[in-house]
Amino acid sequence: HFGQVARVPGDPILGLLEHFRADPNPAKLDLGVGVYKDAAGRTPIPRAVKLAEQRLSDSEQSKSYVGGHGDPLFAEGLLRLVLGHQSAVLGAGRAGCTQAPGGTGALRLAGEFIARCLPGRAIWLSQPTWPIHETLFAAAGLEVRHYPYVGVDNRFDIEGMLAQLGRVPSGDVVLLHACCHNPTGFDLSPADWRRVLEVVRARELLPLFDFAYQGFGDGLEQDAWAVRLFSEALPEVLVTSSCSKNFGLYRERTGALIAIAADAEGLQDVRSQLAAHARNLWSTPPSHGAAVVGLILGDDTLRGCWQNELDGMRRRVAGLRMGLVEALRTYGLAQRFAHIAEQRGMFSYTGLSAAQVLRLRAEDGVYLLETGRANVAGLDAERLDQLAAAIARVVTD
Ligand code: PMP
Repeated sequence: HFGQVARVPGDPILGLLEHFRADPNPAKLDLGVGVYKDAAGRTPIPRAVKLAEQRLSDSEQSKSYVGGHGDPLFAEGLLRLVLGHQSAVLGAGRAGCTQAPGGTGALRLAGEFIARCLPGRAIWLSQPTWPIHETLFAAAGLEVRHYPYVGVDNRFDIEGMLAQLGRVPSGDVVLLHACCHNPTGFDLSPADWRRVLEVVRARELLPLFDFAYQGFGDGLEQDAWAVRLFSEALPEVLVTSSCSKNFGLYRERTGALIAIAADAEGLQDVRSQLAAHARNLWSTPPSHGAAVVGLILGDDTLRGCWQNELDGMRRRVAGLRMGLVEALRTYGLAQRFAHIAEQRGMFSYTGLSAAQVLRLRAEDGVYLLETGRANVAGLDAERLDQLAAAIARVVTD
C-alpha cells in the first residue's frame, strides 16, 4: 500500500527558492538556484535559439521518433564543439555522440553503461560535487566514493586529490568537472590537469568528464582544453555534455554522452550498448533542443550570434566576481575573498560559514546555500557595495 511510503525531503535548493519567494524584503537577492541570470534578473533565451526555433517551425516535416542516438546534425556539431575541429580522435572514428535528455540524462546513461558493461568498478567523485552526482550514480547501482577537492581552508586541494587518485583501484571511474566546478568554482590549472592525467594513465582509470558549462569559464575552446588533452592522450574517455546553460535550453533537456574508444570497431560495440540502455531509460531522446543546437552549430551566422551572446554571459559573471572583490576592498576584505575572482563559472564557494549564510538570509534577504555556495550570476552589479557591507558585518561581528 501507499501507506508504507515514507516521505523524503524535497530538493534543498528548490526549498530555498520557496523561502526567497515568500520573503517580503524588497532588497532580497537570490544567489541559490543554478541558472544564469542577466542584469535584469532574467534567464534569457539566446537570440540564436529564437531564430533557429523559427526556422525549425517552418521546416520541420514530422514529429516521428528520432533514432536511438538522436539527431545526426546535433551529434556532428557537438562532437566538434567538444573535441575540436582538428580532433585526431574524431578523424579516426573513435568518438561517438549519443543524445540524452540533458546533462543529467547523459550522466545516468553513463552510470547505466558502467554498471552493466563494466561491473565492479566504483565511481570517484570530488568532495564536494554537484549533489545529484551522489544520488544518480548510486541509483544506477554504482559504488560511489570520493576524492578530496576543497580543504577546510576553502582552498582547492590538488595535492589531496592527486594523493587519493593515486590510491584508486585500477579500472575505477573518476568523475572530473571539465570546467566551472559545481559547487565550488575552483578549476584545475593546465599544470594540475597534466598531473591528473599522469595518475589516471598510470592507474588505468576511466575518466568521465562532466561538461555542463562549456563557454562559461574562459571561452568555448579554452574550457574544452582538459577534455581534449585527455581524449587525445588516452584510449578510453567518457564525456557528458549539457546544452542547458550555454544554449539557455534548460527545460528542453538537451545533452549528450560522448564515448571515445580505443578504435573505431570498439566504439561501435560501446554504441550498441548505449542505444540499448537508452532504450530502457527514455526510448528515444527529445528532439527540439537538439535540433536547435544542430542548426546553430551548422550555420556560421547563427553560431556567431550565439557565441557573442555566450561571451556576454561569461563576461558578465567574470565582471561580477571582480566587482564583488573590489567592493569588499572598502572593508579590508579583498584579500580574504580574492578566491571569488579567481574561481570560474557561475558558482563560488565563498568561504562563508553556515551561520554567516543564515544571518545574511535573515538580516539582508541574501540567499546562498548553507555550504557558502553562491550563484554569482544572481548578483546585482548596482548593489555590490550593499552586499559587501552585509558580508563585512557578518564576518566581523
Ligand atoms: N552537471 C553539473 C555539474 C551541473 O551543474 C548540471 C546542471 N545543474 C548538470 C550536470 C545537468 O544539467 P542538465 O540540466 O543539462 O541536466
